[in-house]
Amino acid sequence: MRVAFLAAECEPWAKTGGLADVVDALARALGQVGGAGRGGPLDGPVDVFLPRYRSVPVPASAVTRQLQVPDPRGSGVLTVGLVETETHGYRLRLVDHPPAFDREGLYGDAAGDYPDNAWRFGLFCRAALEALRTDPAPPDVLHLHDWHAAPAVLLRDGLLRSDRAIGAAAVLLTVHNLAYHGWPPAARVPDLGLGAGAVAPDADGLDLLAAGIERAELVNTVSPGFAAEARTPAYGMGLDEHLRAKGDRFFGILNGLDTDLWDPATDSALSAPYSRADRSGKASCRAALLTELGMDAGNSAPLLAMIGRLDPQKGFDLLSEAAPDLLELGFRLAVLGSGTADHVGPLRRLAAERGDRVALLERFDRDLARRLYAGADGFLMPSRFEPCGTGQMIALRYGTPPIVRATGGLRDTVVDAVTDPANGTGFWFEEPTAAALVQACDRFMDWFAPGAPRWEGLLDRGMAVDFDWRTRSAPAYLEAYRRTIEIRSLR
Ligand code: ADP
Repeated sequence: MRVAFLAAECEPWAKTGGLADVVDALARALGQVGGAGRGGPLDGPVDVFLPRYRSVPVPASAVTRQLQVPDPRGSGVLTVGLVETETHGYRLRLVDHPPAFDREGLYGDAAGDYPDNAWRFGLFCRAALEALRTDPAPPDVLHLHDWHAAPAVLLRDGLLRSDRAIGAAAVLLTVHNLAYHGWPPAARVPDLGLGAGAVAPDADGLDLLAAGIERAELVNTVSPGFAAEARTPAYGMGLDEHLRAKGDRFFGILNGLDTDLWDPATDSALSAPYSRADRSGKASCRAALLTELGMDAGNSAPLLAMIGRLDPQKGFDLLSEAAPDLLELGFRLAVLGSGTADHVGPLRRLAAERGDRVALLERFDRDLARRLYAGADGFLMPSRFEPCGTGQMIALRYGTPPIVRATGGLRDTVVDAVTDPANGTGFWFEEPTAAALVQACDRFMDWFAPGAPRWEGLLDRGMAVDFDWRTRSAPAYLEAYRRTIEIRSLR
């Protein structure tokens, strides 16, 4: 089986959120459990196609060749660099076309999304498929990630349907975030390069994710819990009908966590390593973090951390609203957020007035994130919806009990300690309100007692959860690949 990923993000080269973590970790884990070269189902390492954005450092080992790619926007041909290297257990294949990708942001800048994203991602997909056409063996599976890769299945079924290498490939589309459909306005749809009449945009343009869902043999999202929710109008983001129509060809595979990259025993960003067997270093991490944040390291008041994109999805507004009550309950808060800061105004004021209790760090900071996962006493994820979520898994592995809204993947990965004390790993709340968040934090406070068996048991169970991609998630994807090939062969 030959598998090619098309994705807009991949850690450590280009990341705005969990998509990057998943693409990298899954590609790597597949190489390990798929037995590439060792008699397993994979013929070789997975290919990962990624745009070469300005921020992507080209690995020293990379080899570049030039491809001639039809310009999605017209009749001409563009010269596109294909920068390839085998690294991290997969084959990274960067699509390099500076006019499209050598820009400040991945998807846009301070002014918003780039208006020519249809062209940029149409070109990305076409270039990836052209690269695959030049390979000695055709791909069996195109594993498309989110809307940015959806044009590839439209090309397979349109302009390239008779192509020997691409026309027969089976498609698995993974929806990491159902909120982003990639919706070019009708006037921009021709820039995708799909060919005349391939798709019929309506007055609002083209819902690329919807089109991809329709065409892909199989569609999954990143947790069973969210797969169930996504079929309902409340969570389906306008696609619930499309997803219901897929029947059992739409399902959830819970994301794993890269347990080598996220390991408090080897994490070089931490001031002291620690592990499930010996958690003593966690206290040093806590003290160092509080000092770094300008807070009193000798004070036992619990520190709650929140990390994420400043997106309405993540519930920063709920935390902003809840913050005064949380201070009243005796908590301290550290918030690391990147992106557009519409929802953190009240937190900014609070951080300015109460710097001894509230820290707001408005940036993307990999190492600080690690120190927060390790040094905080609790981790907040008050998401309105959450296809899977990575932060809560990292927090569990770092012995920091998560307080989560019981939705999607958060419900699938965190066990509520209040309703299930023997198995609990964190704390749930149901309603997306500040009041419900405060109540959950109150329940956390009731449990919070470092050194006490009940508290230490909670941390221990969280650290013991096996999220390793190799255990369940990567084998589940291999099974999905087999199934999508079978469905494609029946066409
Ligand atoms: P999403 O994919 O919706 O953004 P996830 O919880 O799945 O959310 O993944 C978020 C990932 O990005 C986690 O690894 C988290 O630590 C990281 N992250 C998010 N925001 C920041 C930030 N401001 N600084 C550092 N890391 C961040």
